[in-house]
Amino acid sequence: MEKRRVVIIGSGPAGFTAALYTARAQLNPLIIAGNTLGGQVALTHEIENYPGFPEPLSGMELVQKFQVQSEHFGTEVVYDSVTEVDFTTGSPFTIKTYNNTYLADSVIVTIGADPRKLKIPGEGELTGRGVSYCGTCDGFFFRGKDVVVVGGGDSAIEEAIFLTRFANSVNIIHRRDTLRAGVALRARADKNPKISYTWNTVVDEIIGTDGKVSHVTLRNVETSETIQKPTDGIFIFIGHDPNSSFFDGQVAMTESGYIITDQRFRTSVEGIFAAGEIQDEIWRQVATSVGQGCSAAMSAIHWLEEHEDQLQDLGEPTAVEA
Ligand code: NAP
Repeated sequence: MEKRRVVIIGSGPAGFTAALYTARAQLNPLIIAGNTLGGQVALTHEIENYPGFPEPLSGMELVQKFQVQSEHFGTEVVYDSVTEVDFTTGSPFTIKTYNNTYLADSVIVTIGADPRKLKIPGEGELTGRGVSYCGTCDGFFFRGKDVVVVGGGDSAIEEAIFLTRFANSVNIIHRRDTLRAGVALRARADKNPKISYTWNTVVDEIIGTDGKVSHVTLRNVETSETIQKPTDGIFIFIGHDPNSSFFDGQVAMTESGYIITDQRFRTSVEGIFAAGEIQDEIWRQVATSVGQGCSAAMSAIHWLEEHEDQLQDLGEPTAVEA
């Protein structure tokens, strides 16, 4: 078991920013990186709306820059995933991972959100066999193929445009007749000859042939007419669900599972802070997550200073008996 001043759960933009600030405050933060270093942003092909980078860069390049900068000031990153937390007894809090148990004076939760599933027949079985939630990761496998994209938000349109680099055709299936996506992305999609739309339509089933996606069953929500559309792949971009299952019963959450924070990014438990997509259902931008990570870190720094007298084992990380 290891004792830390600050443990940061999650390694996305909010996590690395919280690490940078707490590291510069000499708190030797530990980041528990989780399954995907960098979180969702690491899977983003091109980022062109993060200030200071006029030339677009990939999400992974940006994450690497975040990591180098925060490690330079003393952040430690462990490539491990949290399995259980206990925040009920107050500070120090217990965090169990696959390989270790940590005691933390304070915790900053930046664990983000995962792509939402359609929850329809065929989706689970055919994931990785034509069903995908990441164009950047899987687009390459659809060179010269015909694919469908589900969703009408910025992610769906951005990813559809990206997929046209590989696919022969990209048909966007949206449950309404108007996109939610912003004007700039819509204009880019409209100019792309490989992109077409199927409006007022939902996917009821994904059908496989020889273990790979071959068709989708589409239903027009206005006429109830159903058809089977041949496709080589289906990319689903219908929003995200927060990774908050560990925190059930530990901190206050919204009905949809987002951690509730105040303006200082404090949760319902003193000493536990949260930032980024785990508590932000609305903005979900790299720039907003960075700002929130910074604010949560500054709150944690102040909280640790205020409670210094009551907290034990201050200073360098210490091993304690298991
Ligand atoms: P989103 O904005 O919530 O859009 C989700 C889309 O999926 C909506 O069009 C929604 O339809 C549809 N949808 C939801 N549940 C569905 C279901 N069960 N079946 C079929 N369709 C369903 O999510 P997002 O596109 O992931 O974007 C999230 C946030 O990130 C947004 O704030 C967005 O602006 C931001 N973002 C920005 C950029 C950028 O600026 N470059 C890129 C990506 C994301 P309805 O429209 O009918 O609700």
